Amino acid sequence: MSVQELVLRQRTEILNALCSSGSAEHLAQVLDILLAQGALIWEDYQNIQVPGRALYTNARQLLDLVYTKGLETCGLFLAALKQVLPEVHGVGLTFSGCCSNLEEKEEYQSTSTQTLLTQRPSLVSKLQCCIDGALKALVISGHFTSADCNEVRLPIHTPSQQARRLLDHVRSKGESAAKVVLQYIQQKQESGSPLNQDKWTPPKEVLKYQKKLSSSVSAQSCFLSTYGGTSHMSLDDIYTKGELELVHNCVDVHGPLDLEDILGTVGTVNEEADTVLVSGDAGGGKSTLLQRLHLLWARGSALQDFLLLFPFSCRRLNSETRELSVQELLFQHCCWPDREQEEIFQFILNHPHLILFTFDGLDELKQSFSDEHRLCCPTQRAPVHILLFNLIQGSLLKGVRKVVTSRPEAVGPVLKKHLRKEVLLKGFSPSGIDCFVKKHHRDPTVAAKVLESLQTNTALLGLCHSPVLCWIVSQCHKELLGCGEGSLQTITDVYLMILQHFFQHQTSPKSTTGLDWLQEHLNTVLHLGKLAFEGIGATCYIFSGPDLETCGVTEKDICMGFLIQSKNMSSTHSKCYEFLHVTMQCFFAALYIVLSNNTDRSTIPRLFEPRNMRKTGLSSTCFMACMPSTDKQERALEGEATAAETPNLQITATFVSGLLSQRHRSLWLHCCPTAVMEKRVRQVSRCLSKGMQKHFKSIPQPVEGEKKSMHAMPGFVWLIKCIYEMQESRIAKCAMSKLEVDHLKLTYCNIGPVECTALAYVLQHLRNPVGLQLDNNSVGDVGVEQLLPCMHICNSLYLRNNNITDEGIRKLLAKGLQCDNFRKIALFNNKLTDACTQHFSHLLKTKQNFLSLRLGNNNITEEGAKQLAEGLKFNHSLQYLGLWGNKIGDAGTEALASALESSKSLVWLSLVGNGVGSAGACALANIIKNSTSLEELWLTDNCITRTGVECLIQALEHNTHVISVWLRNNDLSLEEVEEMTQRESRLTF
Ligand code: ADP
Repeated sequence: MSVQELVLRQRTEILNALCSSGSAEHLAQVLDILLAQGALIWEDYQNIQVPGRALYTNARQLLDLVYTKGLETCGLFLAALKQVLPEVHGVGLTFSGCCSNLEEKEEYQSTSTQTLLTQRPSLVSKLQCCIDGALKALVISGHFTSADCNEVRLPIHTPSQQARRLLDHVRSKGESAAKVVLQYIQQKQESGSPLNQDKWTPPKEVLKYQKKLSSSVSAQSCFLSTYGGTSHMSLDDIYTKGELELVHNCVDVHGPLDLEDILGTVGTVNEEADTVLVSGDAGGGKSTLLQRLHLLWARGSALQDFLLLFPFSCRRLNSETRELSVQELLFQHCCWPDREQEEIFQFILNHPHLILFTFDGLDELKQSFSDEHRLCCPTQRAPVHILLFNLIQGSLLKGVRKVVTSRPEAVGPVLKKHLRKEVLLKGFSPSGIDCFVKKHHRDPTVAAKVLESLQTNTALLGLCHSPVLCWIVSQCHKELLGCGEGSLQTITDVYLMILQHFFQHQTSPKSTTGLDWLQEHLNTVLHLGKLAFEGIGATCYIFSGPDLETCGVTEKDICMGFLIQSKNMSSTHSKCYEFLHVTMQCFFAALYIVLSNNTDRSTIPRLFEPRNMRKTGLSSTCFMACMPSTDKQERALEGEATAAETPNLQITATFVSGLLSQRHRSLWLHCCPTAVMEKRVRQVSRCLSKGMQKHFKSIPQPVEGEKKSMHAMPGFVWLIKCIYEMQESRIAKCAMSKLEVDHLKLTYCNIGPVECTALAYVLQHLRNPVGLQLDNNSVGDVGVEQLLPCMHICNSLYLRNNNITDEGIRKLLAKGLQCDNFRKIALFNNKLTDACTQHFSHLLKTKQNFLSLRLGNNNITEEGAKQLAEGLKFNHSLQYLGLWGNKIGDAGTEALASALESSKSLVWLSLVGNGVGSAGACALANIIKNSTSLEELWLTDNCITRTGVECLIQALEHNTHVISVWLRNNDLSLEEVEEMTQRESRLTF
């Protein structure tokens, strides 16, 4: 095929390779090379790089042009592509036949303008690091005005784009300007001054500012509050590593990420973007993680590539009602430079790659992220959320890195478009829980007791994956050890425990009398409850003195410790307060809904339908002052809860369900009339049942021959959690009675151990067995353990990509053995090794109705295969066995083949990518010889040679049942493939 044809045929692939990242850099680099090679002339370049036009359109134009220019240009184009994107070679794109070499052009040409063209790729890379110096030289020589400089230095451009703009500008200024640039670069090289900035030190005033900033960041980040204002814990003493994972799978990453990886290159999906998102549930440890990063930076022990770090809390930014410029935002909200503000800000503008911003809790910002209102000018004032959104998307201060934290529900597609990468914070691992409790209790006997009581209560252990719950449980160790085994089951139980704990912490034990502790503190609960409730309705998390007064919150209420003083409210001088954690605010809001006589009858129904919240006005007008007026009007018109509010309303609803549970009703006996309570219980059960029905109604009728399947819609898992909180099987049964599906699909639903507990509780009540598909969640070993109570109702369990280890499998299979319905399991891409195969072997030996075992992409070797073979020898039911992407090799394959030789049930076997050679293939041929059931054998991506395939062909002569044997990508020549296909059409190469 000619190179011209290659370009034409691969047009789509080339376009995708150049443009799919959304970055214009690849195309620009290809153009640089083509200009340098003389394959394009300047006018061509200008016709292609039309400013403001879509990237794909520019790339298409280039392809058209290259094609019409003929063979030589096409060859050069492919060579340029190969140089810029070497990784695409072999992944869908081929360059074969393209033999053009990119010529090294002689360094200096007859004119400087020409040299700018022929040396363009290397000039772009050299200039990136010294744009300022080059501009200065051009200004001094009189070629550039300050307007020219500003155009080159527009902050929306990356350093390489700035370098190209500079070169393009210089070209338009003529030969002598070109000479100045070349001289400048030559001088820099000759003087040995590095073109990168290794030995460079920042100006004195910046260093001084850095010192002030880092001591302020350090002071803000070295403690965690545990009781409002009264108790602090050093972050160093308590910080425990949470589990961090990339949201988008990345082939180069194995195992969990480290803190520093958040800002490292690993897992980058969009090179052009500057913002990294850390997402995770409420209480998952996002703020604490940022706090740790801040502290490490301030101490000089991490992130040392960044000279200045500016930490922001979106919660606090909500209170900023003025319009600000970026400069004001930085200096007024983070740290005020004592002198030379302008110089310091100019330094920030000129060195974006040395600056880091962090924005904690984007989900708590009143406005949802949008990229509609563009702002590029760093001196222009705008409402703070507009500044924030433009910083995140890089229209302002391009090149400054940002880390943003948020709950996943509040991250929409518009924001995702602007992300460099997304990292998921999943809370504590089992060993993290252990480590946290030991750090929390210096006395090892107390720590051991807490851990012991957690081990006996798996539901509680599951909850402890969430750091905030782990903290509460550990904090309340006396109550924990004092209460009966298994009495703590739900999140509400845990929050009630801390409620009691705080009250008792503040009052002498004598004054509390049994159950009446709540009655004794009812006023405090109602005051704080009102504050919390009103705040949730108005997206308000920071409360001023007058807010507190409106809700009747007294000094005594504050002393109980649920409220802490807000740090760093530099814009106001009076004291402000917030709840210890947003989940605590939701809990108090729920207490208010349950206990107050002042809430509306429709509050509960509206709470369970957050979308309609504003239409009927859950929020009172109390905190409307928290919102800027235009926003207030917009939202009133919209009549809907924003994406950011919904998670809080959902958490509140979950607590309301829990508080109204039969188990807690005795607590309210003296606080609220029984009739009112009963009515509220009825309202909640009705809402839950109705909510579920809505999901079930959306299930489409199955296509003929297929199973009836339900894919969970948003909100389904939340409803399940509410039902769990109620702990009343009657309600669970009623809610599930109408669900009639064969397959329940909950993939990518953010399901961790806590959700598994609730799911298992509710699914137990299904009438007929289902296939439960939980692929791509964070179930882990603890989650697996939580699922055991519903195993009897699962006929198949799909747990692909869920971080499950051998230990989780041991427990799962021990239970699975006792469940007659359990017949299929898929565990692709977990953390399984040979240590789990003995359990599968036992399962296969014992369960003679087991149908499908899929263990692809784990770490099973020859030893594991031998163990499996032991079980397979005695099994008469297995139809599907998938072992793709393990390390079974020939010896393992031989063991499996000998065990399966006389199988009458096996239909499908995959050993793709297992290092199987001809010895393995010949052993497998024996299965083919004897089997009357086998239909497909997958052996792609192995190292089978002609000898192996000959065995397979001979075996196939005696078998008419087999439909296909897949042999792509083995050790066979083209001729061998051709010949053998002719002999046996069922072989697919
Ligand atoms: P989020 O910001 O995700 O809502 P936080 O960071 O506020 O969660 O965590 C809530 C509480 O959980 C913290 O106040 C702290 O007590 C505890 N916590 C969270 N992460 C950690 C951690 N890595 N080490 C120790 N404690 C933690």
